[in-house]
This record gives sequence, C-alpha cells and structure tokens, in this order.
Amino acid sequence: MRTLRSRLLVSYLAVILATLLVVAAALFAFATISSIRLTPALQQLSTISRVNQNEIVELWRLGGSGDELQTLLLTTAEQTGVRILVADTQTSEIIFDSDQTDDWVGDRIAGVTRPPGVSLPNTGRGSVFGTFTGPNGSKWLVFSEPNPEFGRVLIFYGVVEPTAAEFFNDYFSRPLAYAGVAAFMLAVLLAILITRSVAGPLGQLAEAAEGIAQGNYDQRVEPRGPEEVHRVADSFNSMAAQVKTTQAAQRDFVANVSHDLKTPLTAITGWSQALLDGAAETPGERRLAAETIHTEANRMARMVNDLLDLARIESGQFTLAPKPVDLAALVEEVYRSFLPHAEAKDIELGLEVAAVPFIAGDPDRLVRVFNNLIGNALSYTPPGGRVEIMIGNAGSQAEVTVRDNGPGIPDEELSRIFERFYRVEKSRARGEDGRGSGLGLAIVRELVAAHGGQVLVSSEPGRGTAFVVRLPIASGADGSPAHIRPT
Ligand code: ADP
Repeated sequence: MRTLRSRLLVSYLAVILATLLVVAAALFAFATISSIRLTPALQQLSTISRVNQNEIVELWRLGGSGDELQTLLLTTAEQTGVRILVADTQTSEIIFDSDQTDDWVGDRIAGVTRPPGVSLPNTGRGSVFGTFTGPNGSKWLVFSEPNPEFGRVLIFYGVVEPTAAEFFNDYFSRPLAYAGVAAFMLAVLLAILITRSVAGPLGQLAEAAEGIAQGNYDQRVEPRGPEEVHRVADSFNSMAAQVKTTQAAQRDFVANVSHDLKTPLTAITGWSQALLDGAAETPGERRLAAETIHTEANRMARMVNDLLDLARIESGQFTLAPKPVDLAALVEEVYRSFLPHAEAKDIELGLEVAAVPFIAGDPDRLVRVFNNLIGNALSYTPPGGRVEIMIGNAGSQAEVTVRDNGPGIPDEELSRIFERFYRVEKSRARGEDGRGSGLGLAIVRELVAAHGGQVLVSSEPGRGTAFVVRLPIASGADGSPAHIRPT
C-alpha cells in the first residue's frame, strides 16, 4: 500500500466493486419486481409444447396406443425437465401427471394467472399460461396451447417458477463478472500508465535534489508529466536557482566580510604597533594613530552590528517597540547629524518638510533606516553633488524621499541592491569611505516592512538615485496613531 501504483489500484478496485454492487443490486431489484424474469421460461415451455404436441398428433395419426402416448409424454418430460399435466377442459381435472412420485391426478388445475406485461408472440390465441399454485402449495409456471385434435383435453407443460436469484444468476451474473474483469484489467493498465507518468519525473526530481544535497547547484529538471508534477518541477527549478544565487551571495559575503574586517584590522594592528614600539613619536603622530584606531574600530563595530541585526531579523528574534512618532522631527534629527559630514565632503544636503501626521513606529529602527539611506547617498555622491531629503504625504502613507545626483545604479542591478551582501560593481562602488558591506539596504527593507511600509528605488545612471520610504499613517483624533498607546 506504500506505492502510488498499489494505492491507485486499490482505489480503482474499490470504485469498480462499488459500481458492480450497485448495478447488481439494481438488477436484482428489477428481477424481483418485474415479471419479465418469467418470460424466458414461458417461451421455453411454449417451444416444448409445440414440438411435443406435433409429436402427439403424429402418433395419433399413426394410430398409436394410449400406452405409447403415455410413454411419449413421460420421455418428453424426462428429457426436457418439464412436468406434463393433462387436464380435462370441462372440469379442469388432472387426468395425467408425468411426475409419478407426487401425483396430482384427480386434482384440478385452475387459477393460472397470466403475469402482467408478459406476452408470448408465436403462440396460439387460446393459449393458457402463467403462474399456478400446485395442490401442495408449490409455485409453478405452466403453459398450454389448445389443440382441436385433442378434443376435451388440454396439455400443460410446467416448471417450478424461477426465483429472482435464479433469473439473476442465469442472465446477469456472467455479464457482470465479465464487466468486472474487463474493468479490473483497464484499472491495472491505467494505474501503470499514471504511475509511470508521475514516477518518471519524480525520480528525476529526487536525483536532482540529491545532486543539490551534494553541493552541485546546477541541477535543473525538465518539467513533464501531469500538471501537479510539472509545478513541482518548476518550483524545484526556481528553488535550485535561488539556492545557487544564495550560495554565491554567501560566498561573496564571506570574501567581502573577511576583506572588510581585514582592512580595519590591519590599520589597527599597524597603528597600535607604532604606538607600542614608539614609532609614533610626536604627539601629532600619536594622535593620528589613536584617531585611526578609533575610526577603524568604529567601522568594524558598525559592520558587526549590521551582521548581528540581520541575523536577528532572520532568526525571527526581532520585535518592534512601536509608539507614536513625529516622522518629520525624526528625519530632521538624522539630517542634522549628517550636516557636518556633508559639509566635509562638500555635498549640499537639503531638507524639505511638509506637515506629516504621526506614524506608529519604533524610533530607533526608523533612525537606522534613514541613517542608512542618507549615509549611502552621501557616500556614493561625489564632492560637489547634492542630496535632498523630502518629507510629505502620499494618501494614507507618510513618504520620505532621499534623492542624490550621484552615479546612479544600472537598471539590471536595481532589483538586486536590496539583497543581502549585494553591492554594485563590488570593487568600485564600495563607497569612498569604505563603509559598505552590502547589508545596509537589506536591513532598511526588513525594517520598513516590519513597520508595514515599503521602500522603492528609482535611478538613472549618471544622474542620480532616489529612495522612497512609505510608512502607513495610523490616524487618531489628535493626529497620533489610534492603535498605539503613547508611552
Ligand atoms: P553598502 O553597505 O555597500 O552601501 P547597501 O545595501 O547599503 O550596501 O547598498 C547596496 C549597494 O547599492 C551599494 O553597494 C551601492 O552600490 C548601491 N547603492 C546604494 N545606495 C546608493 C546610492 N544612493 N547611489 C548609488 N548606489 C547606491
């Protein structure tokens, strides 16, 4: 019962059996109710009657004796298995009975009832036929055709009335059995065909999955077979492609992280060594050493934090602490914190604020979002460029746009920049202050999504990039989010 084939077979068999049972029950009911079951026996009796009466007439004409006539009746009865009764037409009295053991001679044959709906073509007009209850109570089916040559005598040919079960056995059991066998063979054939069409592609899928388990990520299967298996194959192929991409991204990531951690570590080791062995002699040099160590350590800390955050988001250990947030004030604060940096880089940093209702959010996480976006814009925009921050409304959402006139992002990379560890043209676009790890935008997207919002990007290579963050406004009477209790 474990294989698909045996399951299919068993279910087919169940359906076949159930169908046969229903049909058999219907036929049996029909045989019980309808008097049609009597027709074949009556027809047989009428044939025997015709043949036998001809023989009798023949014997009569040849001047046969009464004994010879009796013998003829007895042999006919024995050969055909019918009971022959000879009766007086006037009195209905039985004057001869072929059954010598249970002799009805002297009894009357009366009350022959014609079954409704049964007609026997090819029989004479005065034929008497139907059911008849014998003197001992047994049920019989009798047939008699008057013959002018016999004068006052009527010859009845009778058989025990066939039961519905007998009729069913004689006429329906065989065809039903044949139908059952034919259906069974068809079921086996179908089960084999269906199993093959499913098992083939599934086997291929299993092999491909095995290949992936062994680290061969180029596995693809050709979708074939039934629709459902087709879909599994399609899903498998996209999963395999995804696994391959993720695998490549992980590899890149390890390479990048190692490189990015090594750069500050080298600087820290070098400068601290210089401090230790006295190579940095003057106070100016010592200060430079300390500053460099401080900056590089910060850079490492930032990166490790990013990694930890993403790991937390990925493992589901991340929860928001939402409260009513004045988005305009929050973004403005971030903007202010970047002003010195922008000035140092000779980038014009602008802010344009429209009144925005409060939103429900986690302020620390939102600061993180705008830190990343504004930080990126400043990072990738060359000196002399411009970065603009705009805050406004878009329907039921608050909207913050960070637009720069930096190098832009090529179209084919645009859809990938939110992927973890993804960086445009890895060597070049590391951001001039070397802050990039490819994690910033992945974090931005996760955090914005956790707030029920979305982040969009549009970019034109050579002209600049714009990131738009949309966050839902939860409106209360005082402009504060209705569903969050201020803390
Ligand atoms: P990174 O830490 O490298 O900045 P992010 O996830 O923040 O990583 O960004 C992914 C990539 O998207 C960056 O490496 C950069 O190539 C590109 N990018 C992000 N912001 C901008 C921007 N304002 N202008 C041009 N390229 C950008």
